[in-house]
Amino acid sequence: LACTLASIAAYAIGQYFAAVLIMLLFRLCHIIESYAVRRGRKQLSELLSIRPDSASVETAEGVLSVTPDYVNVGDIILVEPGERIPLDGVIVEGISTIDCSPLAGKTEPVAVTTGYRVLSGCINITSPLRIRADRNYADSTVSKILRLAENAPENKSRQEKLIAAFGKYFTPGVLFLAVLIGLVPPIFNGQWLEYIQRGAVFLLISCPSSMVLSVPLAYFGGLGSAVENGVLIKGFDYLESLANADTFVFEKTGTITEGKFAVTDVVPEGLGERELLGIAATAEMYSQHPIARALRQASSAIVDAKDVRAEDIPGRGVRAYIGSKEVLVGNAALLEENGIGYKVPNRSGSAVHVAVDRRYCGHILVSDRVRRGAFDALENMRVQGVTKTVMLTGDVLSVARPLGSKLNFDMLKAELRPEDKLAAVDYLITNKGGIGTVAFVGDGVSDAPVLQRADVGIVMGAMNCQEAFENADVLIMDENIGKLPLAVKMARFTHFIVKENTGLALIAKFALLAGSALGFVPIAAAAVVDSGVVIFSLINSLRTMKSWKE
Ligand code: ADP
Ligand code: MG
Repeated sequence: LACTLASIAAYAIGQYFAAVLIMLLFRLCHIIESYAVRRGRKQLSELLSIRPDSASVETAEGVLSVTPDYVNVGDIILVEPGERIPLDGVIVEGISTIDCSPLAGKTEPVAVTTGYRVLSGCINITSPLRIRADRNYADSTVSKILRLAENAPENKSRQEKLIAAFGKYFTPGVLFLAVLIGLVPPIFNGQWLEYIQRGAVFLLISCPSSMVLSVPLAYFGGLGSAVENGVLIKGFDYLESLANADTFVFEKTGTITEGKFAVTDVVPEGLGERELLGIAATAEMYSQHPIARALRQASSAIVDAKDVRAEDIPGRGVRAYIGSKEVLVGNAALLEENGIGYKVPNRSGSAVHVAVDRRYCGHILVSDRVRRGAFDALENMRVQGVTKTVMLTGDVLSVARPLGSKLNFDMLKAELRPEDKLAAVDYLITNKGGIGTVAFVGDGVSDAPVLQRADVGIVMGAMNCQEAFENADVLIMDENIGKLPLAVKMARFTHFIVKENTGLALIAKFALLAGSALGFVPIAAAAVVDSGVVIFSLINSLRTMKSWKE
């Protein structure tokens, strides 16, 4: 509108060439803008193409093709080779390979068979699968991803809010000045043509159009490229905080390490090795902790599974009742808190102590491996300007310290309970100078409060962690730690372009305002510069859509 007014003003004062030029440039901007928006949409709709159209369900009347919403939990669905898995579920029959690239970015196909849990959105490759749905469509992974992507733009970044606030004062302010400049001075000096022209320039540049369009476009691009690489970012605001993060706090187990423990030694006291392992595995029957999984795997004998009650003690272990016996399984702190003496292991590793009815029964040593690529990932992040890396763990210092120095962490805290981790992150955030933000990287299971407290909560291996969708701000779908520096790089690049565009637009606008107030800028030149900025920043924003490599 301001553009049209400016054009009319130029026409009225006989600047026909300028009037036509303004209208032409205006059209050109529109064309480029709609192209840019289409590019942005296309990238997102490619992501949206993970949506399955139909599901083949086994019913009493044979196999029916229905929309995925109609499938109930417990229904058996058939997925032919080449088809997309419509709902999350467990394979009940079939041996095949599936491709999870649509969810996780480029990944190798994985072999699956009866008993495996598969996620909606993955493509079945080799042979037909019968799958029992264990989530309805709305709770399946595909729906969660789509919801997340659709809502991302609603979470506006600080930059966008600033621009909106700026526009609220800038536009009416400049419009007012336009009227003032065009009408007031000529009352005194009679140079109507000259001052109306100056006012028209003001009209022309009154809207912060280039910022309003190019900034969300850049964020869309950044979000899209991230998704392409299997990194989901919940909102433009989190993309921005990720770009600004200069402190990264990591959990050890399952983040820096694989979270796949192996039993390396069994040291019983007054009973057999098998028996000790059996008791520990039984007590850990219901626990989701990686150590519990390792113990269950190592033991062939789960004793009398019917009669077990157990509770997790986060950061400590478990307390279980097997029949009438009370069993404690966990770290030294757990035994200390319960006033039970224990033996300090004479070999390295994380010790899992076992006590039955308050009597010490020995310990089991478990160890975990550092993730492949962890060292490079951390170095890469430092190169990008991450100034502080911190590792927090509930594990013992003797295990954490060698890892900490191998990976060059700036700070290391061990033997923490979950609430200590929260306090540590809280401390880092409150006592932090500068504008950088604090990111926390965890495995998404037991660290929900810390993920929330951090400026950006990042979960690795989110694909296999239902909680991650609620708890995390940034989801790295697979377990590849190399995706972390990549996500940082994409976020920083996007944010850089946003700042470049806003900076340029501000400089151009104020230069034009000043110049035209003093009468240096002909209206045609103002039109060229202003639309030039719009076009440049739109094209600049499209750069965020490039393909990235780790
Ligand atoms: P991290 O900070 O490394 O992720 P956690 O907070 O998950 O560690 O656990 C801290 C410590 O508590 C573990 O190293 C282990 O000694 C003990 N622990 C926690 N849960 C269990 C469990 N289910 N069984 C045995 N030990 C456990
Ligand atoms: Mg943990």
